[in-house]
Amino acid sequence: MLEKVEEFNMDKVIDDFEAITKDAERVQKETLRKILEDNASAEYLQNLGLNGRTDPESFKACVPLVTHKELEPYIRRMADGDSSPILTGKPITGMSLSSGTTQGKPKFVPWNEELFDTTMQIYKTSFVHRNREFPINNGKALNFIYGSKHFKTKGGLFAGTATTNVFRNSRYKWIMKVVQSRNCSPDEVIFGPDFHQSLYCHLLCGLIFREEVQLVSSTFAHSIVHAFRAFEQVWEELVADIREGVLSSRITAPSIRNALSKLIKPNPELANLIYKKCMGLSNWYGLIPELFPNVKYIYGIMTGSMEPYLKKLRHYAGELPLLTADYGSSEGWIAANVNPKLPPEYATYTVLPQIGYFEFIPLTENNEEPKQTDGFLQPEPVGLTHVKVGVEYEIVVTNPAGLYRYRLGDVVKVMGFHNSSPELKFIRRSSLLLNINIDKNTERDLQLSVEAASKILAEDKLEVVDFSSLVDLSRDPGHYVIFWEISGEASEDLLRECCNCLDRSFVDAGYVSSRKVNCIGPLELRILRRGTFQKVLEHYLGLGGAVSQYKTPRCVGPANTRVLQILSENVVKNCFSTAF
Ligand code: AMP
Repeated sequence: MLEKVEEFNMDKVIDDFEAITKDAERVQKETLRKILEDNASAEYLQNLGLNGRTDPESFKACVPLVTHKELEPYIRRMADGDSSPILTGKPITGMSLSSGTTQGKPKFVPWNEELFDTTMQIYKTSFVHRNREFPINNGKALNFIYGSKHFKTKGGLFAGTATTNVFRNSRYKWIMKVVQSRNCSPDEVIFGPDFHQSLYCHLLCGLIFREEVQLVSSTFAHSIVHAFRAFEQVWEELVADIREGVLSSRITAPSIRNALSKLIKPNPELANLIYKKCMGLSNWYGLIPELFPNVKYIYGIMTGSMEPYLKKLRHYAGELPLLTADYGSSEGWIAANVNPKLPPEYATYTVLPQIGYFEFIPLTENNEEPKQTDGFLQPEPVGLTHVKVGVEYEIVVTNPAGLYRYRLGDVVKVMGFHNSSPELKFIRRSSLLLNINIDKNTERDLQLSVEAASKILAEDKLEVVDFSSLVDLSRDPGHYVIFWEISGEASEDLLRECCNCLDRSFVDAGYVSSRKVNCIGPLELRILRRGTFQKVLEHYLGLGGAVSQYKTPRCVGPANTRVLQILSENVVKNCFSTAF
């Protein structure tokens, strides 16, 4: 039965959260027991000889740590229509396509109603904490969300991105009402067949409801920045549509045209106002509060690979607070942001012990990932309440949708505890990004290096729009290549300075020593034509990804041939470092 909006009691949600996090160890055991009991008939668990045991010790003794690769054959059978209990007791209701931007191609993970329940729990928990600090009253959200392409698997299961699975659930509208985030845009815009048309109409709907918009959000911050960059290009057309009450001819999808025709009416007054406001801005600083005067905050995931977009987001947001959303993945939710006042750079996420069973593999002393397979070399994972403050861990998830001891591939650092549940800082994806010989550089290292070099670029009022990287082994010695799309023309000298800074900013000892003896060649900076990363995004959308979950691939490996081709075809300039 659906809870009614009036029955949503904020104090109770906070009290429950406090009680659950105080009792995290017991709640974890209970969560594991329930997952194992509900799925006791699953072939996967049966074969591992659990024999109905549900305690953490037996679970750890019988069930191996796995990655997606080991579960792939089981997931494939489920997708192909085998409805026997394979990974779960009950048949699953769909498949989520994880964005796969790191591996180069999307992958399937099972989806069921229990995962939607955890979505509701996390949304409610973070909302009540947010609303205490930044109350919203009967607000609307300009929510840049997009349903992905979806299809039926061979066995007839619905397959779309996890966010699409959430948006299309019949309880989604209800939860959005509860968390004061009713979308300005009708469903036809969210699920429109073409992303560009949906984006345009999100902006248009936002402007039509500008007084009511109290929240600007998206799943990942990238989509918000992307949307306002697009606004800079199309704002005059939007103003014209509002003035005439006629939708631009660029919107060709009949479903969207039909839905928008009910909303758009000639409104010269509003058109004049928006025109004046846009003309009055200097370089679009403070655009969001100018367009939407009642917005309380900007909301979306802003940590990890989203950090590089914060600067631009702050520019558009002016004085508005930026609140990072929760921490989760297609494989399930993990933790909520219950300290919304912290800026994204300092944000932590508190694990919800009732939504999954979590283990943590400590990284080795130099914060390296534990080996994948050599059982005895691998540090033992520890339980949720046994992690230590200041230590970095790789997360292992057991969820109610058929994933058992699944290595998510994320590295987090424990910053403290909320009662007895850890507060995590997202550090990075666990895989190494750049590695030629003894050098080891992660997504985070690349991010820091780009951040340092973009400060030099900023001196000339230029910015890095987006970036990626590559290990080039086509010549000996191999070298790092950094791809940059920048906001304007930079001089050769400036680029060389940036290139040297990028090279020097990889401070890992293996890299520095290899560079000094030329076992790794000079770092190369390749500048891309404007719009190249838009092409990369479109490539992912074509594979079934969704803008809502999009993350720019920070390194293009050999498996990513199409992306590499897009980047290579669009290089307009390059230079090599002379830093060593
Ligand atoms: P997906 O493959 O689309 O399911 O994306 C899930 C991944 O996004 C996670 O495994 C993380 O690497 C990243 N992610 C999700 N939430 C956050 C967050 N709050 N902060 C940083 N990274 C996140």
